[in-house]
Amino acid sequence: MRKYVIMGIQGCGKGTQAKLLAADFDLVHISVGEIFRWSVQNHTKLGASIKRIVSRGELVADDIVADIVHKRLADHDWNYGFILDGFPRNPRQAAFFLENYDIDAVINIEMPDEIVAQRVLSRRLCSQCGLDYNLFYHRPEKDDTCDVCGGQLVARDDDNEEALRARIADFHAKTKPVLDIFAVKELIVHVDGNQDRDLVQAEIRSKLGL
Ligand SMILES: [Zn+2]
Repeated sequence: MRKYVIMGIQGCGKGTQAKLLAADFDLVHISVGEIFRWSVQNHTKLGASIKRIVSRGELVADDIVADIVHKRLADHDWNYGFILDGFPRNPRQAAFFLENYDIDAVINIEMPDEIVAQRVLSRRLCSQCGLDYNLFYHRPEKDDTCDVCGGQLVARDDDNEEALRARIADFHAKTKPVLDIFAVKELIVHVDGNQDRDLVQAEIRSKLGL
């Protein structure tokens, strides 16, 4: 049984890394973001309340997130273990979580702020068909034009420099105290996220002794 938490800023690739690890070791990937998206798409009661919260421009409260995660873990469908992505969000949740689940390690994917900014600010979205692009990894053949439908590529409203700086600062402010709690138990493995996807995965496995 392996029980991991994965942490890292938006754009660090932690979702991809969690999936790669989960697939090879039969772990259940529990992603708070994916549970949210699924709930909204399937019009569940939770989905409706998430939609309301997000449309008001607010964040889903930590307590709601904790509730979702605890219910999900209570399913006990994780025979070989789990990798948890998007939780815990504050020191109180981290402490509670540590008391109730015997965590093996916390994988902290590190990425310099400048690289995060570069990656996020190079995201583009087709204004017609909604396809995602990234000027670093997935360039359109013709500048600013969707390969599929010819629509114009635009940046998301909240992908501007100022909003991004605020999100990065907010991430560090919220994450530091959570990492501090895990650090006391010597559970954290730090992994360099600023390298090729397969190298990140290899570093995770080697540091976890897998
Ligand atoms: Zn398009």
